[in-house]
Amino acid sequence: MPDRPARRWGVWVGAAAFAVGVLWVLFSPRTEPAATTPTVPAPAVATPEPPSSPLPAPVSATAPTLAAQVPALLLPVQGVLASDLRDTFADGRDNNQRGHEAIDIHAPRGTPVLAVDDGPIAKLFLSKPGGITIYQFDAKGQLAYYYAHLDAYAAGLKEGQHIRRGSVIGYVGASGNANPDAPHLHFAIFQLGPEKQWWKGTPLNPFEPLGGKTP
Ligand SMILES: [Zn+2]
Repeated sequence: MPDRPARRWGVWVGAAAFAVGVLWVLFSPRTEPAATTPTVPAPAVATPEPPSSPLPAPVSATAPTLAAQVPALLLPVQGVLASDLRDTFADGRDNNQRGHEAIDIHAPRGTPVLAVDDGPIAKLFLSKPGGITIYQFDAKGQLAYYYAHLDAYAAGLKEGQHIRRGSVIGYVGASGNANPDAPHLHFAIFQLGPEKQWWKGTPLNPFEPLGGKTP
């Protein structure tokens, strides 16, 4: 049997190679997953209904306990009472692919929309879902107030303009993806990140700051 020792040697080499392979798989550093893990997928629900493009994919990793930090706000649709408000913040949108993260305040087209608080106009933005929209910051630059589906801006409204609480900034409409038969103001609040980007923030429920009471 001249080939026997060679065959046995081959078996040992094979077994050793197998063992090395197993050890390598078990103990080799896993660089690949580590490289990808830091990317935390932006929650789909983070985006407030309207802006599809540059709208809030909430950045803040820390869940905000923010109710206390949002001041009592003026109800932004003239003639609507706090008792008329319905809390639709947690409603699903797009087959529950995301949350509403705002409240809808229904009113006839052309009803004046009022600033909920003092603060500058950060951005006047036209988006496919939100239509004619306004992003206003609060005076401290910590919160963004988002008004969407407007029919029009108030005459002369400009980015950077400091707005007083109660000033007319626009008019209720159904621009963007709103049902034309159900004009309403889509109103949202975001806690801004350190970069103060008007399109990014952590959504906060406006219902209680607007005086809403759960029945
Ligand atoms: Zn809405």
